[in-house]
Amino acid sequence: MEISKCDECNGKVVKKEVDFKLYGDVLGKFPAFVCNKCGEEIFDEETSDKIDEAAKKKGLWGLGANGKVIRVGSSIALVINKKIAQFLNLKEGREVYIHPENKNRIIIDVQ
Ligand SMILES: [Zn+2]
Repeated sequence: MEISKCDECNGKVVKKEVDFKLYGDVLGKFPAFVCNKCGEEIFDEETSDKIDEAAKKKGLWGLGANGKVIRVGSSIALVINKKIAQFLNLKEGREVYIHPENKNRIIIDVQ
């Protein structure tokens, strides 16, 4: 599949090998169409499948999930599923630093 224009800004794209990173881990080098205006990296379907494969091999597949906020006494708690907890080595009692990035996003730094 050939891609000639950027979906985001309509800029020109060039074919390049790029390091694909997922959760801070480099999965490998993959061919991408990179926009020379906004830097957007576009992968064709075949490459996307290969990236998914590489992520599955590294156990990084499907870590994103919907969560739920629950009440614990006078505070609220966020339920983190087992997969994410294992990936971060998060255990009961572990200290974390929680800070908002903006009104729609929080960052949890595992100490
Ligand atoms: Zn662009």
